[in-house]
Amino acid sequence: QQQEKATLLKAYEFAAKFYHYVVGNTDQGKAAKGYLTSRGISDKLIDTFQIGYAPLMWDTLVQQLDKRGFDLALMEKGGLISAKHEGHGYVDKFRERIMFPICDSTGKVIAFAGRAMGDAQPKYLNSPESILFNKSRTLYNLHLSRPNMRKLQQAVIFEGYVDLIKAWEAGITNGVATMGTALTNEHAALLNRNADEIVICYDGDNAGQSAAFKSIPLLEDTGSRVTVAMLPDGKDPDDYVRQYGFDRFAREIIGASVPSMKYKLLYIRKNFKLHEDGERLRYLQSAVKLISQLQSPMEREHYLKQLASEFPDSSYEAMKLDLHEILLQS
Ligand code: ATP
Ligand code: MN
Ligand code: MN
Ligand code: MN
Repeated sequence: QQQEKATLLKAYEFAAKFYHYVVGNTDQGKAAKGYLTSRGISDKLIDTFQIGYAPLMWDTLVQQLDKRGFDLALMEKGGLISAKHEGHGYVDKFRERIMFPICDSTGKVIAFAGRAMGDAQPKYLNSPESILFNKSRTLYNLHLSRPNMRKLQQAVIFEGYVDLIKAWEAGITNGVATMGTALTNEHAALLNRNADEIVICYDGDNAGQSAAFKSIPLLEDTGSRVTVAMLPDGKDPDDYVRQYGFDRFAREIIGASVPSMKYKLLYIRKNFKLHEDGERLRYLQSAVKLISQLQSPMEREHYLKQLASEFPDSSYEAMKLDLHEILLQS
């Protein structure tokens, strides 16, 4: 298996170089370059992230691998190419897609994400898991951002490849992205080993916000301090950068990330009609319950006071009594 791994690593490295070459040096690559340019991804970024293009033909990569003596059955097993549905032989897995190489923590290519340029489905096609690639242990771009994470003792998590790349251009060079999967305990532990503070910067839609809410306890359980960068309704970091520019993204989104408790309070708040007495009371009860989960009495006091000042017709003393009751029960 060690031998198979070593061979596959060589093949993935070759494929990444091949796809990257195509984007910069061929006629077919021109359309891909056009697509990337239209999304604000410069030549410099294409190089930094070794972005490539998988051409339209059925078996371009298969032929290149074959010519270089790679065992095609192994290449198929490793998720780099596909077996033909009918008959013998192999075809390329990725066709007509922008290719983002996914690397392990040392920078070796272990998988790809391929984005369709038009409306083809799926929008993103990922390499399957293999002896090289385990999604729940891999974070996109960890190899490039780890030194910066360590220096800053801060890591930023994004949902998307393009989000991370745009943030990089905005000077946020301590980012990683999950690849269409929920954050796992393994991801959380990996991040905690490299930084004290984790900033969650997920899309400003329901899916992203709910994923952020769920990721908080996972990250905090490893001992990390967590803040959340909040995007306007429905926007992702890439959208935001396009509309407001790099500087504002760095300052007003990443720079203004809020402590996890503040985020959680804002998040649950949307479920209540606060102008109705009963709902307001239920919100306050849920909020006090969240606050009661904080370990530090000082922090609990801080958020409780803030809550009381937001709702002047409910008394701080009553909230404190509620909180004590919850603490006694747990
Ligand atoms: P883009 O800006 O290129 O349209 P995005 O990153 O904004 O993409 P989202 O729909 O917000 O795309 O999804 C976030 C992430 O989830 C993607 O970057 C990708 O990793 C993953 N993802 C999205 N759609 C799919 C899919 N159909 N299959 C696999 N993964 C996907
Ligand atoms: Mn290049
Ligand atoms: Mn998005
Ligand atoms: Mn997007």
